[in-house]
Amino acid sequence: MAAVTHPNHPSINWQRRYVAAIAMAGSSSAVWAVANIWQGADFGLLVWLVLFALVSTAVSAISERAGMSFGISHAAILATAWLLGPAAGVLVGVIDSVGMWLIHSYQPRSKWKVSVEQLVFNAGMVSIAALLSGLGLTMVRATAGETLVGTVISWSVAAIVFDQINIWLVACVIYLQRGISPFKFWHQQRWAMPTNIAVAGVGGSLLVTGVNALGANGILLFALPLLLLAVPFRIYIRDTEAQLKQLEALNSELQQLGQRKDRMLAVLSHDMRSPLGVIKMAASGLERLPNLPPEKQTRMLRSILSSEAMLETLVNDIIDIEQVQMGKELELECVPVDLTALIVQVLETLQEQATEKGITLQKALPLQPLVVDGDMNKLLRVVLNLVGNALKYSDGSGRVLVDLRALDGQVALTVQDEGVGISADQLPHIFEPYFRSAEHKRFASGNGYGLAIVKAYVEAHGGTVTVDSIAGRGSTFRVTLPQWQSH
Ligand code: ADP
Repeated sequence: MAAVTHPNHPSINWQRRYVAAIAMAGSSSAVWAVANIWQGADFGLLVWLVLFALVSTAVSAISERAGMSFGISHAAILATAWLLGPAAGVLVGVIDSVGMWLIHSYQPRSKWKVSVEQLVFNAGMVSIAALLSGLGLTMVRATAGETLVGTVISWSVAAIVFDQINIWLVACVIYLQRGISPFKFWHQQRWAMPTNIAVAGVGGSLLVTGVNALGANGILLFALPLLLLAVPFRIYIRDTEAQLKQLEALNSELQQLGQRKDRMLAVLSHDMRSPLGVIKMAASGLERLPNLPPEKQTRMLRSILSSEAMLETLVNDIIDIEQVQMGKELELECVPVDLTALIVQVLETLQEQATEKGITLQKALPLQPLVVDGDMNKLLRVVLNLVGNALKYSDGSGRVLVDLRALDGQVALTVQDEGVGISADQLPHIFEPYFRSAEHKRFASGNGYGLAIVKAYVEAHGGTVTVDSIAGRGSTFRVTLPQWQSH
């Protein structure tokens, strides 16, 4: 039985005294047992009985992990008392308690609080129970005789005494630990008690019958099925633990999915607001003022169309990210794309933004075209996002370098900035959809999926994207894509 110490309970001193008293009484009976065992004991049989009790305890520890307690070491203690006298029964009980304590100490995820206090209490308790039930067994056996009725009475008395001493001693320690009434505890055990008593009484008498008929082989007869029982228990535990692990993995996957969906909805609702506002304002203006000059009407229509295009890009991006997250392949409309020309186009678009921020936009591009087989729009987004981020996360007077070159059948694009950089703990997450580094939220606005798009598009082209960064010093993003082969 498990006795767990509650450090804050007011009666902690009483609990210690109680445990010490049980340990003293238990060790007195153990000393008495050792002193008395020498009188003509059959040590060979004693060793077999000890081994049997330990095997039973080991099987019980395994079965406990499968959610049920299955052990018949109490039967072994009573059988020893019958065969070799109460002193031998006490010894088997004490050795078994130490064995149980050791097994629990080394067992992973044991529910026990493995402490010396636990050991001395359990050993003391079993020692007292073994002594009193063993003496009871001997006395009733002498009085009632070895007839069928006498034997049944002897075993019943011994099993009940053993069980009740255990239950009440534990009930008292539970009372001192948690204030639960001993009667209430006893009542809670009402279903377990008859089974325990039956297992100890019937199991003990059968073990004695086996030993009387076959000597030590009679013990083997019991130990073998017990050992065999351990096999299905172990298989059950292994399977349950594997299922548990799968469930845990599934659970954390579901949690991540839920969090991603929440972030996606937050981004969607946030980023849709402003283009929808523009569309609403322009459309209602056109409706209310039908006689506006044509150039104003054209301007309003253009803003409607460009906001609609923004919404479409937003929705397409999110669809692409979700598809990749679900393990689906992105559809590409591949044509030979000259990356050199594409980068020149992006740099021209972003030059104004760089000048405004006081950032020098440098390029190191090959003189000849560098061609990849790719989706023009998606590759454009990759370069736009990377160079756009380099500008966004740089404060004035820095430098952004865009380098493109052919390398071992690959095209290597490097975007290097001298901006705020990314700290080591944030770095592994920056390609996750909707992730935004906490320290950058104040620095620049964003929706947190630009890099997820970069990664999805690059990988859809059979390429790779990596990043090196030092907080406060800047970042370097490297993209490789397979170079187009003309043959
Ligand atoms: P967004 O820029 O919209 O927040 P991204 O997916 O493009 O989303 O980037 C994710 C995060 O990675 C950013 O919030 C930022 O913290 C970090 N990051 C991306 N590029 C850089 C960069 N060049 N320098 C520093 N941090 C960057």
